[in-house]
Amino acid sequence: MLKSSLLLIPVFALSLTAQAQTPAGVQPMDPDYAAQVKQWTTRPEFMSPLVDHLPTSSTVPSPKAILGYNIGEPKRLTYYADVLRYYHALASASPRVKVIDIGKTEEGRESIIVFVGSEDSIANLETNRKNLARLADPRGLTNDQAKEIIAHTKPIYTLSGGLHSAELGPPEMLMELAYRLATEDSDLIKKVRENVVVAIMPVADPDGRDRSIDWYNRYQKDITDNNAVFEAGVPYWGKYTKHDDNRDINYAGLANQNLLKWYLDWHPPIMHDLHESVWFLYTFSGQAPQNTLLDPILWGELPFFANYEMSQLTKMGMPGVWTHGYVDGWSPGYVAFMSSNHNGMIRMYEIMGNAGATTMHRFIPETKPELKGGGGGPGGDVTKRQWYRPLPPYKDVMWSLRNNTNYAETGVLTALQLTSTIPGTVLDDFYTKSKNSIHSGETEAPYAFVIPSNQEDMTRVAFVTDILRMQGIEIGRATSEIKVKEGTYPAGSLVVKSNQPYGRLAKTLLGKQTDPDPELQTYDDSAWTMGLMTRTTITPIADKSILDTATTPVDHYTPPSAIAEVKSAVAYAIPDHGSPNLITLRYALKDADIQIAEAAFKSGSAEIPAGSFIVPASAFDQLKSVATPLGLDAIALTGKPTVAIHPAGLPRVAIFSTWNGTQDVGWVRFTFDQYKVPYDLIFKEQILAGGLHDKYDLILIPTQARSSKALVTDIPKSKQPLAYTKTAEFKFLGDYGSSDDITGGMGAQGVAELQKFAESGGLLVTLGASSALPPDFGITPKIDTSNPTARLYAPGPIVEAEITKPTNPIFYGYSATTIPVRYANGPLFRLDPDQNKADVLMRYPGGDKSVLSGLFNGADEIKGRAAILRTAVGKGEIILFTTNPVWRWQNVGEFRMMFNTILNYKNLTN
Ligand SMILES: [Zn+2]
Repeated sequence: MLKSSLLLIPVFALSLTAQAQTPAGVQPMDPDYAAQVKQWTTRPEFMSPLVDHLPTSSTVPSPKAILGYNIGEPKRLTYYADVLRYYHALASASPRVKVIDIGKTEEGRESIIVFVGSEDSIANLETNRKNLARLADPRGLTNDQAKEIIAHTKPIYTLSGGLHSAELGPPEMLMELAYRLATEDSDLIKKVRENVVVAIMPVADPDGRDRSIDWYNRYQKDITDNNAVFEAGVPYWGKYTKHDDNRDINYAGLANQNLLKWYLDWHPPIMHDLHESVWFLYTFSGQAPQNTLLDPILWGELPFFANYEMSQLTKMGMPGVWTHGYVDGWSPGYVAFMSSNHNGMIRMYEIMGNAGATTMHRFIPETKPELKGGGGGPGGDVTKRQWYRPLPPYKDVMWSLRNNTNYAETGVLTALQLTSTIPGTVLDDFYTKSKNSIHSGETEAPYAFVIPSNQEDMTRVAFVTDILRMQGIEIGRATSEIKVKEGTYPAGSLVVKSNQPYGRLAKTLLGKQTDPDPELQTYDDSAWTMGLMTRTTITPIADKSILDTATTPVDHYTPPSAIAEVKSAVAYAIPDHGSPNLITLRYALKDADIQIAEAAFKSGSAEIPAGSFIVPASAFDQLKSVATPLGLDAIALTGKPTVAIHPAGLPRVAIFSTWNGTQDVGWVRFTFDQYKVPYDLIFKEQILAGGLHDKYDLILIPTQARSSKALVTDIPKSKQPLAYTKTAEFKFLGDYGSSDDITGGMGAQGVAELQKFAESGGLLVTLGASSALPPDFGITPKIDTSNPTARLYAPGPIVEAEITKPTNPIFYGYSATTIPVRYANGPLFRLDPDQNKADVLMRYPGGDKSVLSGLFNGADEIKGRAAILRTAVGKGEIILFTTNPVWRWQNVGEFRMMFNTILNYKNLTN
């Protein structure tokens, strides 16, 4: 064993060259490292023979040589610039390491990938990349040719850490791992180096890491009692979201986009994402419910790897390694799922961490019920023995950053060991899954999805095609009319055929989600069907002849825009077919006197729907330059429309955020930023300052807290103020808002200010769970909320909603009266009989038949309930959405309801 032999070796006597001729097992080791990591590990069984030593090298720098400390030192965390510094130093010193830049983040940090392998592997990366690309798209490849390629190709095993910024351990561990892989000469590591190319994404959310470390250093470093940890973490990780960067199904985040782009270049068959939460190490095996469209091979591979790790770490004496019972294989929206979605394999760990680097006493609450301790989770008490948890974690434990490092690194090395033992099998699986995906497109309906080119609004189609293309899915444009059993579609319609390498992913994203077992729960959303989410027509085709349709490849679909100047025009109508881009146009032409038609009218043969913009002819040049790239049409009007019109509003908009719930607000900010809608982001500080109506016409309260009470109380007052401010020492704090004390919430005084705002003529718009605030705090005395029964279980299904006041401006752009919406578990309203029923603008038909995609148990309970409600308060109004019209970067089909409250803020009583 390395552990026992290292004491016999004179550490300083051997140079790197000498090491190459030294038999395995006698490589010189760093005695300081061994002593320190032993000391930082809280119990002997939390150490492993794979990581209790670290080779010395005279040429290749260890983390300590660059950073000044060994990995896992208590209270020591590495900022992103230093992480980069380390990998670049490692790469310049070792021919076994190469770093490539893959793109910038929102805050301008560079995302990188670090390759580690044998000298030969690193020298031949490009050949290996091309070989993997052939296996990923095996069209035209015979099995013999594939075999030949596999014999000369090494699987890329990708590791990523730090996607969740408060989970600070894995990015530290990965630096040590990279060094170990590059320098150690044990049989295990040599075999990994020889047979596998390891690719590391050191920090998957670089922006969030720096902010999280600043917060830890400012507030949490010296807290050793888990019970004294502040309830609040740092308000922001990346620019917009926190945990949801791992629910980013449509790749809104730039770091995620960079990784996807890299993935589609390099095709790593395995992608392993490292997280921190449950005790001590959970390894993902993809439990039910599973996405049954994915290849059955995958569901065999996942538990195979997970069980191997569990058995090996257990063999090494490490307790608490388990699988199953936590995360399912349903949603394709987790970042590392990009691999399974593209016929590879997602792997994932949850490792116990202390949200920092401080050694801490941790315990399961049952053992000390008066204290909080964590360690539960969807699987219940993780310290209970189960068939999938044969040696459970302890209930009461001192835990350190080094323990976290030991578990993560030992687990990963074991997974790499397995991969290095069966590299050909891993590649053959990858090839076979890719081949099967193409084949299943020829044997299993739907054989294609058709996106008709004659839809009223093609801008929402472009949203869909952009995402499909970003995912590497091929789209064709029909060269002539399509005639299949499902119908006739015009030439130019877009066809996504299933017989392509990513045909299964197309089915996953475009098809409906139907859960075979209503008793199961899903870890995240149960539905995401893109056609429903975007309100576009995307038709699954079961007529196999669709595969013979002649198409030309579409690299990027640009929605058409028809705008021509007519000299005699007095104005131009921008027909409103529901494009969210109308609001971008409005703000881009903010100096123009744009009016909105309140009813449909005709101009020549053209039908111009209610909600259409009327733009003065004098603004034509600007209109053309802005509207063309937005995919909007303009129709010349030779006379003023005869229907009623009102100005397209430019209200002063504020978006309210608690300090605890910045993530859901972050998606709203992201969406507003994408559509270039200006707003102020306000917090309790601005609410409590009062005079809100002097500053704003519209205040939007996105869903962001579990209850209306939590929205008001936010982060409870703690012993000391918690400042989120930028200082010379903590330069990454204080972005996107700042406060001398983020605790305390807006309180009753804040609610009173919101009431004053509405009563004095402001428009208050509440989304999702936040819509319980006005009734619960007495702002709307005639509306009550009631609780659903425990039977109601609705993890983000897509349901029907019925527009009951189609003439209300909120529904401009919606030609149908029944539309798909994502069910957001907003409050169920009970209306006072006196309440004017006309104030219900949209309601849920309810019942099982109204569930269009995903899982909804108890859909009867929402029968007839209000989905959107309007109520007058003093001189102002409140619009209460129980839906969430801005859910992540997904439900584009609902965005317009939100935007319409802005564009028509003075005219919502129609
Ligand atoms: Zn996580």
